[in-house]
Amino acid sequence: MIQRKLEKLGVQTSLLGFGCMRLPQTPEHTIDEDQTALMFDLAYQAGVRYFDTAYGYHGGESERVTGRMLKRYPRDSFFLATKLPMYMIRTLAQAKDIFEEQRQKLQVETIDFYLLHALNKETFNRAVELGIIEYCEQLQREGKIRFLGFSFHDSYKEFERILRYRNWDFCQIQYNYRDRNIQAGTRGYELAAALGVPVVVMEPVKGGVLANLPREVSEPFRKVNPGASDASFALRWVADHPNVKVILSGMSSMEQLRDNLQTFETENPLTQAEMDAIEEVGKRLDSRVKIGCTGCRYCMPCPHGVDIPANFEAWNHLGMYGPGEGVTFRWTKALPSNAKASQCVKCRQCEQKCPQNLPIVESLKKLQAEMDEAYAK
Ligand code: SF4
Ligand code: SF4
Repeated sequence: MIQRKLEKLGVQTSLLGFGCMRLPQTPEHTIDEDQTALMFDLAYQAGVRYFDTAYGYHGGESERVTGRMLKRYPRDSFFLATKLPMYMIRTLAQAKDIFEEQRQKLQVETIDFYLLHALNKETFNRAVELGIIEYCEQLQREGKIRFLGFSFHDSYKEFERILRYRNWDFCQIQYNYRDRNIQAGTRGYELAAALGVPVVVMEPVKGGVLANLPREVSEPFRKVNPGASDASFALRWVADHPNVKVILSGMSSMEQLRDNLQTFETENPLTQAEMDAIEEVGKRLDSRVKIGCTGCRYCMPCPHGVDIPANFEAWNHLGMYGPGEGVTFRWTKALPSNAKASQCVKCRQCEQKCPQNLPIVESLKKLQAEMDEAYAK
């Protein structure tokens, strides 16, 4: 198992981290603890030493199950990471209650890696105003947490502001070969490296879509390395960044775990031909983009409630990756019916505001028809 040193913190961990946000489930949609135990054991035996959960995962059950699973191993043989749900914190007292609840659920005295979860401009400002950071620093002094960091979802500008705000022990960013220029991105990775802040990467396979590419897209991978999975290319691309110290993979099955264990068995940098294959796959994905919406939101708000960029994002996802979980989430879960393209009355107010001069009205009509077809019962 590949190990990485976090020089700043004086510790070493497995590069593969077990993400506990998509644990295997029973037909009743509860966590399948028997299967989870088998997966934890196999991962642990193979040398995985970083387990990452959060207050909100699996409706609050992930921490409880993760705690039960890890209780079976010596406490000093692994690192446990969990997160304070800044998106729901409104008072310091609430944060304190949640922290104690987390320690109880996880059955530990000390949380090794503690993160302010999903920071963005708004939640970071709130963390500062409420004194959450000082509270976490106090927890660190008391030995209740070892290392303090944050996970992040916003623009590079906000990432830089947060990263420079204090001397963080680590940070966690979304990073993969498709997301080099969104959120923290490559600039964010490089800034963290320059400041000596270790990086934990989440979404290395972009919520699973890079693990399951349409066959005609992933063909360059087959040519250059026929036995390797799509996921292994994405993971190795991230692993080629030396300041990435942990790569989190939210594994739901033994098959995914085994594939990941194989990928992370030994350092295996991408060859030039493999890097070229990744660029070619990227180009193929780009050519399947339905509309060049940048997500700038200048067209918003729509007086009739259509969330134009969210509709386009779901549509582009459908074009690039085909129907699957990523599109289902964006179209059926994240987008309420009163914000869908079907609500458009063709007033064209949005088109005048779009800096890309996109044919919004015509595109919304097309996308609604394609989504109707993709999701026809
Ligand atoms: S044309 Fe449609 S999407 Fe654009 S502002 Fe009007 S109703 Fe909203
Ligand atoms: S203004 Fe144009 S590019 Fe920007 S979000 Fe709206 S449709 Fe997309």
